[in-house]
Amino acid sequence: DSQPLEGRVAVITGASSGIGEASAERLAGLGATVALLARRADRLDSLVERIAKSDGSAVAMAVDVTDAGAVRAVADRVAGELGGADLLFNNAGVMLPAPIEELRTDQWQEQIDLNVTGLMNVIGAFVPQLVEAGAEHGVADLINTASIAAENIFPNFAVYSATKAYVTHLSRHLRVELGPKKVRVAAIEPGIVGTELQNHVTDEGALQWLEGSKKTIEWLTPEDIAEVIAFIATLPPRVNLQQVTIMPTAQA
Ligand code: NDP
Repeated sequence: DSQPLEGRVAVITGASSGIGEASAERLAGLGATVALLARRADRLDSLVERIAKSDGSAVAMAVDVTDAGAVRAVADRVAGELGGADLLFNNAGVMLPAPIEELRTDQWQEQIDLNVTGLMNVIGAFVPQLVEAGAEHGVADLINTASIAAENIFPNFAVYSATKAYVTHLSRHLRVELGPKKVRVAAIEPGIVGTELQNHVTDEGALQWLEGSKKTIEWLTPEDIAEVIAFIATLPPRVNLQQVTIMPTAQA
């Protein structure tokens, strides 16, 4: 039997944990060859092994996506070794909430560097491959990870939310530009998902808010999001799911 994503090549950033890791396993399980991008090479290597054990095909390509030159080198590897990407899940991101008056300019920059500049580095490196795949095969996918924070107001999440609003709005523009070239563009906007994202939070108030939310909300799992990514990628080529909000049922 042929699998729905047989023959497709998916590049996934933030593949060493959380949403990216679960999505890599899911897309590989559907027959895609997956290129795994993140900084922690050891984590990527063990994911490659796990995918191989279930008869999937994966390649680890450790990279810091804030380094534009390094991302371009990885794109060359994907072109050379895998024949180019026809699916990009542009997902690496960091969330560092804090009251604006604390002036954590280091954390503002870290979020902008990864969630905006890193995202653009990956788009710059892989859009040519997606457009080529669209022309050759009639379909390619660019899926960007935004957040419900792009739409809603969460106190002390101003910088993170603004980076995610950037991702959502950019995606809408790119869909209009790239759709005629057979490249579908989607933004996903998850509510709270239990991943390593929360582990990097340093602000006491935000940590308490996150921890407290567990009492009333059953957080989403990375696998829940992976299922949506698989859905987007397996739709018929004429269908572009533009924007998806995925909320824990009990999250307001
Ligand atoms: P994780 O922290 O588990 O995953 C983040 C991933 O990004 C890791 O694989 C990390 O790997 C990678 N990463 C971080 N910095 C870099 C870098 N400089 N270069 C390359 N890769 C990098 O969190 P999630 O899975 O939750 O996050 C995935 C996306 O989902 C993010 O964009 C996040 O904003 C978004 N999101 C998450 C929600 C949640 O509640 N969890 C809700 C809504 C959106 P490594 O450290 O090895 O580089």
